[in-house]
Amino acid sequence: SNLNGPKPIRRLEEAVINRIAAGEIIHRPSSALKELLENSLDAKATSIKVSVEDGGMKLLQIQDNGCGIWKADLPILAERFTTSKITSFQDLERLTTYGFRGEALASVSYVSQLSVVTKTKSDTCAWKAAYIDGKLASKDGSPTEPKACAGNDGTIITVENLFYNTPTRLSALRGSSEEYSRILDVVTKYAVHNPHVSFTCKKSGSASPDITTPSGSSVKQAIGQLYGQTIAKELLETRISSAGDGVIRVDEEEPWSAEVFFTSPNYQAKKMVFLLFITHRLVESSRIKKALETIYTGILPKGAFPFVYLSLQIDSRSVDVNVHPTKREVHFLDEEQITQKIGDAVHAILIGQNQSKTFEYQT
Ligand code: ADP
Ligand code: MG
Repeated sequence: SNLNGPKPIRRLEEAVINRIAAGEIIHRPSSALKELLENSLDAKATSIKVSVEDGGMKLLQIQDNGCGIWKADLPILAERFTTSKITSFQDLERLTTYGFRGEALASVSYVSQLSVVTKTKSDTCAWKAAYIDGKLASKDGSPTEPKACAGNDGTIITVENLFYNTPTRLSALRGSSEEYSRILDVVTKYAVHNPHVSFTCKKSGSASPDITTPSGSSVKQAIGQLYGQTIAKELLETRISSAGDGVIRVDEEEPWSAEVFFTSPNYQAKKMVFLLFITHRLVESSRIKKALETIYTGILPKGAFPFVYLSLQIDSRSVDVNVHPTKREVHFLDEEQITQKIGDAVHAILIGQNQSKTFEYQT
């Protein structure tokens, strides 16, 4: 054979392919947590408790009081492309739940040791199941079956030894305190976006949680509790939508609506705090962030920044946020006009605020 020629192409082992794919969805403990939180919220939980060891690398556990999972579904729970959220391609077009590709739990199971305890309201006991590489298996890889156990209504997902089999991923992580602060950041943001849900987050073994919110709060209360009363005191809010004038025209942009909570010029931070949810998914958009930052440039002194929480709801057909879970930088149809309109509304209120400090914006 020709030693100087190209090497032959070989097919990778399936487990290796799945591990690579999983690493693209699950970058670090906080991205696994994000998927798991979204599952709990999809399951209509009103209480979500997160427990973490070693920045989530050793242990990441999420307990919710949601609808639970049928015992009969447990064998395929962590297989790729298994989901209770869509059944047809058409469903993709009117998607309301967060994740939909049935990839999150599968991905987690390819890069960690995953276990689940779950109970539906109509079950008389809970069921415990463990997964490796998408299949029911104990930690040594040997096949297992779900086992009956005691448990509350809802689901506990336990992720142990994340990236134990992908050393490059593991070495790309920061230390456990940096990973833990990313976890706290994700929980904090979901707690602001879901003030009706009670959240706690703690290091396992520690008595006092680092985050704890009651259920049934308002957004403002949640922001006050999580980001401080100094911010909450200076919060303004507005709602904006595409059909603002009530007239629906042919060829009009896709319907959208936005809710914005933003600090008045009286509040000045050293760095901008920006929370962006698009159709209830935590995402990043440096473009929207920059646009909002620019609005404050003429209003705040140099080097001073605001707090902004923006929840944007767009017809899911026009967002690529859901196209692939790894996309953190999001783009959507009419992005520029929508950003402009939101910016204009915020600006108008800020200007009013600037001229008269006693003016209070009413929604
Ligand atoms: P997806 O969320 O895209 O459907 P996942 O892999 O995240 O895919 O979850 C697969 C399925 O497992 C979900 O569709 C749901 O039926 C079930 N599931 C996952 N987590 C929970 C939970 N916390 N409570 C109830 N069901 C859950
Ligand atoms: Mg999911």
